Order: sequence, then structure tokens, then C-alpha cells
Amino acid sequence: MKFICDFMLGNLSKYLRMCNFDTIFIKNIEDDELIKRAFDTNRILLTRDRRLSERRIIKEKNIKTNLLKSNCVEEQIKQIEDILKITFNLDLKRCIRCNEPLYALDKEKIKDLVPSYIYKMNNTFLQCSCCKKIYWKGTHVDKMRNFFNSHLSGRI
Ligand SMILES: [Zn+2]
Repeated sequence: MKFICDFMLGNLSKYLRMCNFDTIFIKNIEDDELIKRAFDTNRILLTRDRRLSERRIIKEKNIKTNLLKSNCVEEQIKQIEDILKITFNLDLKRCIRCNEPLYALDKEKIKDLVPSYIYKMNNTFLQCSCCKKIYWKGTHVDKMRNFFNSHLSGRI
């Protein structure tokens, strides 16, 4: 399931990526371009903008659109889960910054790229194919898990 988020849903787009949902988010995108990309790449359009969601072109092109009712990311997630019958589960396989897949790195190769205590304490390192950001399971995953636990109780 792939998504495209309108400009108001930057925070939500990070959660979607954390759960390995392929998600486009572009800050300063025009509505027409947003709709075009949703159509061209067959994505579900997530929006807070009722006017946008009711545009004729959306119906004509049969673009799946979810109008989110809340500004609160927990409520947004719950609404998406309800409508699409999916569950948000933390699954670190996608860069949170740029949506690209993460690749496992040989531990040897990153010795000089992360702080030495991080290097010593972790065995699994992942890197974004685009921005080259390095993720490691310890800190990053714990941080995200806490994030989810505090926002979505009983999850993960
Ligand atoms: Zn990246």
C-alpha cells in the first residue's frame, strides 16, 4: 500500500515510513501536482483539505483519497487503520527522511562513520541508499518504539 501526503501531513509521513509504507511527502507541492503524482504512481492520497478531496478530477481519475479529520497524528493513524484495515507496526526498512529503502551495511565499513560507543554496542547497521544516513537498531529503534508506545498505547 503506497501513500502520498499533502503538505499538512509531514509528521504522519514519518510514521508511515517507520512502518515501511512507501510514502511521498513534498513540502511545497501544488495541489495539481499532488493529484498528478497520486494518479501516476497509484498512491492513496492522504489529505486534511476537504476542498482538495472533493475536486472533480479526483473522482474522474478514481484516485483513492482519505480525508483525515484530525490534526493529531495518533487520531490520523487510527483513522487510516480503521478505513484501510491495516495496522501500523514499526518496521525499519525505509529512510524516514527520504522514503528510500535501507540496506544492511558491513559493520567493518562503518567503523569511522559512527561514534565508537555506538559501534561497539551494535551489530546491525542500515544505510539509506539516497541520503546515506546510517540507522542502527539500538538507539533508533528504541526511540521509535517509545514514540509509538507513548502515542499508541498497547502497540508493538
Ligand atoms: Zn535517506
